[in-house]
Amino acid sequence: MRRRLLILGTGFGARHLLHHIDLRRYDVTVISPRNHFLFTPLLPSTTVGTVEFRTIIESIRSIRRGVQYFQAAAISVDPDRRVVRCQGRDERTEWDQPYDLLILAVGCVTNTFGVPGVEEYGFVLKELADARRIRERVIQNLERASLPGISDEERSRLMHFVAVGGGPTGVRFAAELHDLLSKDLAASYPHLRDHVRVTVVDANKSLLTAYDEQLRNYVQQVFQRRGVQFEPGNHVRRVGATHVELDGGRLVPCGMVLWAAGFARNPLIDSLPWEKDRAGRLLLADTLQVEGAPDVYALGDCATPRSGPLPQLAQVAAQQGRYLAHSLNELAAGKPIAPFRWKNQGVSSYVGAGAAVAESENHAHPSAGSWAYQQWRVTLWSDLLSWKSRLMIPLDRLRAALFGRDLSRF
Ligand SMILES: Cc1cc2nc3c(=O)[nH]c(=O)nc-3n(C[C@H](O)[C@H](O)[C@H](O)COP(=O)(O)OP(=O)(O)OC[C@H]3O[C@@H](n4cnc5c(N)ncnc54)[C@H](O)[C@@H]3O)c2cc1C
Repeated sequence: MRRRLLILGTGFGARHLLHHIDLRRYDVTVISPRNHFLFTPLLPSTTVGTVEFRTIIESIRSIRRGVQYFQAAAISVDPDRRVVRCQGRDERTEWDQPYDLLILAVGCVTNTFGVPGVEEYGFVLKELADARRIRERVIQNLERASLPGISDEERSRLMHFVAVGGGPTGVRFAAELHDLLSKDLAASYPHLRDHVRVTVVDANKSLLTAYDEQLRNYVQQVFQRRGVQFEPGNHVRRVGATHVELDGGRLVPCGMVLWAAGFARNPLIDSLPWEKDRAGRLLLADTLQVEGAPDVYALGDCATPRSGPLPQLAQVAAQQGRYLAHSLNELAAGKPIAPFRWKNQGVSSYVGAGAAVAESENHAHPSAGSWAYQQWRVTLWSDLLSWKSRLMIPLDRLRAALFGRDLSRF
């Protein structure tokens, strides 16, 4: 008898778990509104066309044959009856999906901090559809700003792009956008060159606060040299259709606002009866079992071991997914399981114009510049799981380098 393993989510944690789970021992069903795995570290590159959208996704149906998948969201869990209430993504039909073991790998959502206007006028970057909306808006603004009869003031507004949040997402978006505007604009939109501006706003005093001070200063210098403006120590109070409002009521006109100010808990996790930490993440034993629910496991951004909080990173979710698959395989064979231990693989971030910053655990071995960029590319390439993506990414980059990024609107 194979036990029914129900996995919620198709992100980093679920993807790695699926890859390693023994299907002779488990009857696996996956529920997620997203029918593909998304390689988020390259998501900012798709917003400007350095890498194409479909290059960084992998269909869930091709990841592992013999697994059942339903495109739906889990809306509640009944631990007594061991069922998950599911709702189809398009049809909105609802049903109860039974399980013997449940895996929660639903990630987190963008945090708007309740700032007015973010949902109506801001752009977030979490899914591929978000990246497509951003790319569409960038091109739309380029075309609108090129029309005759547009005042210089309006042209400058349309060409001002603001990223709220100086963490990895905001910095990488600003870097990619600046690459596009500095390289491709000269050829395709030379009349807009003098109007373009990119600004990063953050409540903190520096960019990439999780990095070593030397690297933070480096990023700030790089941005300064390239004309990417940084507004430190500023809160965004409101996002409007044509501006953002900063502390003290200062209005900054702009043509697009990327909201990358942080993550909030997934509503499904919020609804569960088990204990959470202050950030709303489920508290886990070292075996990744949810405390008080021995047949429920959780991993990735939506949970953290009680013994020591872990960062919300792809490498954590991926390692947990692999660990959990091996543990469950051992468990089914009647063997004892060892606790999960995270191996910190360091962090790196692209900062634009062929430069990156990288460091190992505890800020060791900091490096910056083109060598760090090569390291960043190699690390990302080797982290990719499908050979399709490994092949397509260098081809996309080559196409962008030879022919420029595609700025067609359709
Ligand atoms: C733009 C961007 C860039 C990033 N870059 C990096 C990087 O360079 N390095 C790094 O380490 N980390 C990076 N991260 C963070 C990394 O993506 C996350 O830490 C990682 O994806 C977490 O994996 P996860 O499996 O917990 O959740 P996710 O990968 O977020 O997956 C969650 C899954 O759950 C599904 N889901 C949500 N709600 C439900 C529900 N109710 N029912 C069923 N399914 C549901 C979602 O559709 C999704 O499939 C980046 C994140 C972003 C947004």
